[in-house]
Amino acid sequence: MPPGALVGRTVESVEARAKHLMVRMSGGVTLHTHMMMTGSWHVYERGARWRKPAWQARLVIECGDHHAVCFDAPVVELLDDHLEREHPSLSSLGPDVLVDPFDLDEVMGRARRTDPTTEAGDVLLDQGIVSGIGNIYRCESLFIERVHPQTPISAVDDATLRSLVLTASRVMRANLVPAQGFSRTFEGQPGKAWVYGRAGRPCLRCRTLIVAERTGRDARTAYWCPKCQRSPQ
Ligand SMILES: [Zn+2]
Repeated sequence: MPPGALVGRTVESVEARAKHLMVRMSGGVTLHTHMMMTGSWHVYERGARWRKPAWQARLVIECGDHHAVCFDAPVVELLDDHLEREHPSLSSLGPDVLVDPFDLDEVMGRARRTDPTTEAGDVLLDQGIVSGIGNIYRCESLFIERVHPQTPISAVDDATLRSLVLTASRVMRANLVPAQGFSRTFEGQPGKAWVYGRAGRPCLRCRTLIVAERTGRDARTAYWCPKCQRSPQ
């Protein structure tokens, strides 16, 4: 479908799912963009100066007095309802922690259907269970809830698992403020992570040295406090 197929259509809704953005148009057409690490959408008033060079624009939607410009997104495609249902990277996504209302029961169901030996740290990163949680937030949430990242998911009770996911969602929402000079906050000292990026430094709660290790399915680096987050072994 060429971009011109959007002309004359009305935007009916905009939905974010992890780093996918779905702009739903009248007539059953959806503009799907995926931001990966580089993409962004900007909205400008007509005639305003863009904050990025025009050659980085992948798509420009002109709509009344505004332009919506998609910069550097690796994926920009138009889908009809059928294609969206069949889309390999969309159909299997778990609920997004930043979407309201957030479907925690669906996340719980997906987590319980996964291999019971899966590490808790992997469950939080698995986009097929819950989408949108990055490495920083999974490390910080596991610390806040005192769960060791290598705990098999079968050993994490429902109440703790719910708290883990809700904490990740809450902390991520608290960091959505796009102001300049804003530093992230993790429900402790302002601007300071509890464990992420702090290998070899003392735990802010108990002074034990923070550990970092590549672990789990994708060998992502996890950070944890060996005293606050008791080892499952
Ligand atoms: Zn500690």
